[in-house]
Parts: sequence; C-alpha cells; structure tokens
Amino acid sequence: MGTPRIEINLNKIAHNVRTIIKLYAAKGIAVAGITKGVCGNPTVAEVMVKNGITIIGDSRIENICRMSQAGVAAQFMLIRSPLISQLEAVIEHVHISLNSDWSVIKKLSAIALAHNTVHKIILMVEMGDLREGFMPRHIASMLPDLLKLEGIKLEGIGTNLACHSGIKPDVMKMDTLSDLATDLENQFDIKFNMISGGSSANHEWFNATNDTGRINHLRIGESIMLGLEPVGRIPIVNLYTDAFSFVAEVIESKVKPSLPYGDVGQDAFGHIPIFEDKGQMNRIILGLGRQDLSIEGLTPQLEIDILGASSDHTIIDAKQLEIKTGKELVFDMNYAALLSAMTSPYVIKCLSKYDERPRVLPNGRTERPEAKIAESQHSY
Ligand SMILES: *Cc1c(COP(=O)(O)O)cnc(C)c1O
Repeated sequence: MGTPRIEINLNKIAHNVRTIIKLYAAKGIAVAGITKGVCGNPTVAEVMVKNGITIIGDSRIENICRMSQAGVAAQFMLIRSPLISQLEAVIEHVHISLNSDWSVIKKLSAIALAHNTVHKIILMVEMGDLREGFMPRHIASMLPDLLKLEGIKLEGIGTNLACHSGIKPDVMKMDTLSDLATDLENQFDIKFNMISGGSSANHEWFNATNDTGRINHLRIGESIMLGLEPVGRIPIVNLYTDAFSFVAEVIESKVKPSLPYGDVGQDAFGHIPIFEDKGQMNRIILGLGRQDLSIEGLTPQLEIDILGASSDHTIIDAKQLEIKTGKELVFDMNYAALLSAMTSPYVIKCLSKYDERPRVLPNGRTERPEAKIAESQHSY
C-alpha cells in the first residue's frame, strides 16, 4: 500500500455529515461543509454533497477551484477574506464569500460587474476573538455605501470565534449577533438570508440553548471530519471520531540507551532537548517526519511513546513491545495532523470505497475500511 499514508473512511464521514445536518436542522440551522481540513479533497467533498450538504466552504481558492473542476455539485463559499491578488478567480469560482475588508468588497464589486455577474457576500463581525471582522459599530456606517455597490449582493452577516484567541461562541455572543442582524435590517429596510454564527466551536452554545435566535447557518469542518467539538475537544454523540487514521513504517528497531551522550547543543529545530535516563530502551525509528505532518497531532494506537521527530525521522520508545523493521504502525490524528498530512505531497491519501448505503454499526463500533484505493501517490 505504501507509507506514510492517511486512511480516510468515507462511510464514516458520510455518517457524520448526515448526523450533523440533522442535529443542527432540529433548531433551524443549516450547515456548510468545510473542506479545508482535507485540503479541498474532491472525493470527500462529493461524499458531503451526496449526504445533504449544499454549500461547500474552504479557505483557499485553490481548493475551491480543484473541487469545482472535479465537478463537485455544490455552491462554493470562500471562508477567508479574498486576497486582492485572487479576486478574478473568486468571482469566477466562488458563489459566496466571507468579507471583512472594505477595499476588497469594492474591488469584488468592480470585478463582478466586469464579469456581468453578482457575487454574494457575508459581512464578518468582530466579536472578541480578534481575528477577522468589522467592528460592529462600523457596519452601520459602511452599509449605505455597500448597498449601492453593483455586482455584490449582501446575503447576511456572520462571525468567527474560538480560532485565534479561544473566545467561546456563547449565548451572549450569539444573541449580540442576532440583535445586530435585526437592528441592521430595521435601520436599512433590508432582509438577511444568512446569519452565519460560526463553526464546529458553536456546538456547546447550540446544546445549551433552545433559542438560537437569528442564527440560521454554521460552517462545520472539524465536527464532520473528527467527530469532535473543538473548544474542549469532546466527542459529539453518535459521530465517528476515527474517520481518519495515519500509518507509518518502522525503518530501524534497536535496543539503545535512553540518554544521549556527548556535548549538548541545539537539535534540528533550534531547541536544546532534555532527556531522562530510563536505562536501555526498545527504540524504533519511523520513516516519517515533519515534512509529512505535524507529529504532535498523532496518538499511537499501541502502548508506545513518541520521543521526538526531525524532518524525516520519528523516534519512538517502544516500551515493552518488540516491533520489527518494516512493520506498519497506526495512529489516531487530531486536526493539526489531519490538516498537515492532507497538505503534504509525501503522504499517500488512501480513501475507502464509498458505499452509497453504508451499514452503520448501532453500537458505535468501527470498521476498518475494506477496499482501499490510493487516490494519489505524490501530490494532494
Ligand atoms: C476553519 C473555519 C471554519 C470551520 O471550522 P471548524 O472548526 O473546522 O468547524 C469556519 N469558519 C471559518 C471562517 C474558518 O476559518
């Protein structure tokens, strides 16, 4: 099969998509499926669409172009403010974009007009996480000019929390966004179609309230992929948390000392490492390194410890286990590991066969994917 590889169980993703859509629909919230965690993989996007997603969101125009060219039948949402250098592609391939900069919006309007098309936008509102968004008080003063722009249709407002500063999307934040939407609608005699309240991080808020106010849209990536809510990294009921796993191969296996010997300087990444003397140790090396993925995001499925990694080697304390060279080891992945593995050209992306009518195991037990198809060998 080849290593290092990421194994993607499409049936588990399909199950997660259906479950998430149903969960949020119960309180009137539609979900966009966010594909940036899988680097806009068109097969994963297609599985989302087959299971009820109508809007696919990604932060990169390159990913959206790739999905669009692969024929993924969805509306595409660009969830990062468009780069001025990419506006032509945005107008061409994106149906709706999240915006937080007035100069970008003006240029979007001009280019949409030149292309004889209308581009939908969501205005992002800063609510305390201090990443993207207009300060709320600035929106009302900007709207008269914005509403005059041709080629642009204001679909609604949105916000993003829990990304840069870890500020939670709680009841107070969401009520403030709802009130802002209603105030703006009344003040300017307009009607918003979409109030996009956030991401997977909104799960706790969603569970905590029955009154979701004006929020009728969320942009969900991590919950679909990893079955988690990202604020506390708590598994969501009835979701698979193991749709992705990572496989690497042993390239050296020896008993060696645990304490390095010689004069100590910096390691490959500029740190001065400190080690504990645990006597002789079953040490193995994997053909895997930082060029492949963010090693810290891996959790071994065996009782072993990751000691460290450089560009191309990962060193492991195999503890009581005797693991031979050539053996494949399987790891669980967090979001950072997923994102980096999907982005690395060295990692083989291995997708399970997608079963249109998957057998979902009622007890939450998981299956290993049966037929595996290597989608791509050396590129994403
Ligand atoms: C990444 C991102 C999302 C999706 O976040 P998840 O935690 O994966 O659900 C939503 N909105 C914006 C603006 C994002 O950047």
